Amino acid sequence: MTQRIVYETHMHTPLCRHAEGEPERYAEVAEQRGLRGIIVTCHNPMPDAGFGGPNIRMNEDEVDTYLAIIERARDAFDGRVEVHAGLECDYFPGFEHVVEQQTRDLPLNFVLGSVHPQLMNWRRKFALFSPIDAQFTYFNQLADAAETGLFDSIAHPDLIKNVTANYYNLDNLIDHIRATLDRIAKTGAAMELNTSGLNKVVPEMNPSPRILAEMKRRDIPVTVGADAHVPDRVADHYEEAYDLLEAAGYTHVSYFLERRRHDIAIADARASLTNAAGV
Ligand SMILES: [Zn+2]
Ligand SMILES: [Zn+2]
Repeated sequence: MTQRIVYETHMHTPLCRHAEGEPERYAEVAEQRGLRGIIVTCHNPMPDAGFGGPNIRMNEDEVDTYLAIIERARDAFDGRVEVHAGLECDYFPGFEHVVEQQTRDLPLNFVLGSVHPQLMNWRRKFALFSPIDAQFTYFNQLADAAETGLFDSIAHPDLIKNVTANYYNLDNLIDHIRATLDRIAKTGAAMELNTSGLNKVVPEMNPSPRILAEMKRRDIPVTVGADAHVPDRVADHYEEAYDLLEAAGYTHVSYFLERRRHDIAIADARASLTNAAGV
């Protein structure tokens, strides 16, 4: 039997109010897909409603419940699928201290850093006038996020294209993106290839193949995540993600446990996966 080596590194729970299914259901699908484990990464609590508090993230007083349901799933799948606690934390200028405290105080294996340009607060502060300016600001903030040193991997790193799709022209942005990738490469942070982009306004993974190739040129490590909000999406399109990574020149893919990076060969990762029917 092939060794299980792949993790789902980006998934949510009902606590973030826009995902369904308890962690056990995600672990079940992970087992069928031949994964070694899942790393649960719900949205971190943020202090005001402009961050979508009531609709998209757990409250501060739900953190204990979050850790408890992860532990419950870990016990239930002991010896079958590993279940680890992580967090998807918003990077937002002026709120670094929130993430600093959470990542210091909570027992996290993996911390994703996200800029979410669809949030009310982000739109109000950074996208009020020009969608083009918003795009430049967005990519700058990915580098700002990496430079805080708070995050293991920068999530869905061209999400802005879905929020400003009619104004998104990569030709005009690529020089700026190259400069931000230079900054990110210096920090040692990884970046994510997020397969859920296939279901968004611009139906391709985040980031796009051209940005992926620029990341490879700078040897930025990549974590792959499905951003599953339903159990069936665990490891969704991972094979296709590996195709894209290989086309960009990558031979390895990364994951984090106990905040430390591990690299595995894409060929081995691919060979270890089974389809949803367990074949
Ligand atoms: Zn996100
Ligand atoms: Zn997410």
